Amino acid sequence: MPALRIGLGFDLHRLAQGRRLVLGGVTIPFEKGLLGHSDADALCHAAADALLGALALGDLGQHFSDTDPAWKDADSLLLLGRVAEMVEAKGFRVVNLDATLIAEAPRLSPHFPAMAQNLARVLKVSADRVSVKAKTLEGTGEIGRGEAIAAQVIVLLEARA
Ligand code: MG
Repeated sequence: MPALRIGLGFDLHRLAQGRRLVLGGVTIPFEKGLLGHSDADALCHAAADALLGALALGDLGQHFSDTDPAWKDADSLLLLGRVAEMVEAKGFRVVNLDATLIAEAPRLSPHFPAMAQNLARVLKVSADRVSVKAKTLEGTGEIGRGEAIAAQVIVLLEARA
């Protein structure tokens, strides 16, 4: 029986004018983008927190401070890759990852395959082990009003033999 670890990640960023919208490393054409110190890629941040959580390694902000100039406008796929290296160094690998984006707009489904491919590449797994999907909040709350986008990610790790 392999040693299994499960991790859960969540992230939310506000939408603002004059920012690029980047999710799962994919730049999505939209009138607004997510506000943050890095590229504010909520999907990558939630994925990184899920990986760190699975191994009780803290959270993303602890490892990559949002006051550190080194991470200003950083490509969050690279941050996720750094976290994936930490997982590897602990002797674990990803079994599968499942993500739900929560966004009222834009329509994200055309971008799911590219997002899954990006995540799979940095996690060193095949794309069929990565699931990306999305929900709206039916117009309710901050996300429903288009003020923010959130991401939830769950990941399963197994010890490498
Ligand atoms: Mg974040």
